[in-house]
Amino acid sequence: MSDTAEHATASHTGMNIDTHRDTPRIAIVTGAARGIGAAVATRLAADGHSVAAIDLDEESCAQTVDAIKAKGGSALAVGCDVSDEAAVAAAVERVAADLGAPTILVNNAGILRDNLLFKMSVDDWDMVMNVHLRGAFLMSRAVQSHMVDARFGRIVNLSSTSALGNRGQSNYAAAKAGMQGFTKTLAIELGKFGVTANAIAPGFIETAMTRATAERIGVDFDAFRQALISQIPVGRSGQPEDIAAIASFLAREEAGFVSGQVIYAAGGPKD
Ligand code: NAP
Repeated sequence: MSDTAEHATASHTGMNIDTHRDTPRIAIVTGAARGIGAAVATRLAADGHSVAAIDLDEESCAQTVDAIKAKGGSALAVGCDVSDEAAVAAAVERVAADLGAPTILVNNAGILRDNLLFKMSVDDWDMVMNVHLRGAFLMSRAVQSHMVDARFGRIVNLSSTSALGNRGQSNYAAAKAGMQGFTKTLAIELGKFGVTANAIAPGFIETAMTRATAERIGVDFDAFRQALISQIPVGRSGQPEDIAAIASFLAREEAGFVSGQVIYAAGGPKD
């Protein structure tokens, strides 16, 4: 256990129980204006980290940042298109200058451009690849030197159950399967520097993204939701906080022996 971690002993149970508070660090969460990214940013701030909330538009992160600050946390809104190399370099430099060297990175920014293969445009293919895969690559490459210097890093990438294949999502499924290979490779390359890389593959999580899917296929969201829930073993939909809890664990110092894994969070088993 690191000598920088804070420890306290609880004696009220009559047993020596170590409670553990992680070293405060600098975290970057992309796509943090709403949905899963906002929940992850809020959770990491509650864990004691300073959080840079990155999204396309700096203004759109105001709600996430204000909510963190209202609870006494530290946060910075940064506008950046994660698929733009120069913008990513500038954003990471700004985070390092304003908050400190980032050693936690959650690659969460994402978009959908669903269509059946024969109707899918090249633009829809490229945009999905660029935001998910190129974005995660550019962000990870820009942040890794800070992690290597610190001999500590936690990279958490958002994959999806769609990585296993999903009708109308050849672009998204390919990108999310790609995120898994990318994650495993980062784990292999960066492990010796104290850096872990893991992926979370959510199933149905209630966010603007899944509302947009219901709208696109012309189904009322409640009906869409109920139909999906009927297939989920735990009998409920996922919430952004379900994913934030996993990201929180993976970012912890004590998760240092978990690397290169894909954690499916879908309320039941996935292959
Ligand atoms: P969401 O509500 O649509 O939020 C995604 C956020 O990413 C938005 O704020 C969006 O900004 C931002 N973003 C898009 N393109 C960006 C770019 N180029 N640079 C920076 N930010 C960008 O989605 P979500 O449901 O929370 O999903 C978050 C992640 O989880 C995604 O990677 C998604 O694929 C994955 N996931 C979600 C589910 C689910 O059921 N919701 C399931 C599996 C995996 P704008 O609003 O301006 O576009």
